Amino acid sequence: MCLICDRIEMIKRGENPYFVKELDTGYVVIGDNQHFHGYTLFLYKSHGNVTELFHLDRAEKMRFLEEMSIVAQAVSNAFGAEKMNYELLGMGDAHLHWHLYPRVTGDIEHYGNNGKGPVWWYPMEKMYCDDNRPTEHELSEMKQRLLVELNKLL
Ligand SMILES: [Zn+2]
Repeated sequence: MCLICDRIEMIKRGENPYFVKELDTGYVVIGDNQHFHGYTLFLYKSHGNVTELFHLDRAEKMRFLEEMSIVAQAVSNAFGAEKMNYELLGMGDAHLHWHLYPRVTGDIEHYGNNGKGPVWWYPMEKMYCDDNRPTEHELSEMKQRLLVELNKLL
């Protein structure tokens, strides 16, 4: 079983505290770790044999991409991004899912090219440190803020 399928099953049971909203092609969830404040994921609804964007038929692919872009805009508006970063990797679990990172100046400290560069130039142990997990109250506020912005765009 893949971790993302697990999380989706939790959403369906009403037991996923990170869940924000269901769209046509996927689920919007707040990331477990929040070093990059507002980090959000958009999980494609089904797994099956779909592990690449090009496995989707054209209409589904266009809808998935459009919805991802809407989620990114809502994240940007909700959390004050200077720039959004988009990642579709699938090297942990091949289940299609977008990582959406709101970026601001200084968020990778001195790492990378004098503090500039992709999120993965920031050390993994700092990015996934338990200190970066939102409290229940913070998570609730973040979900509400993102939901308001999503609903404005949908
Ligand atoms: Zn899966």
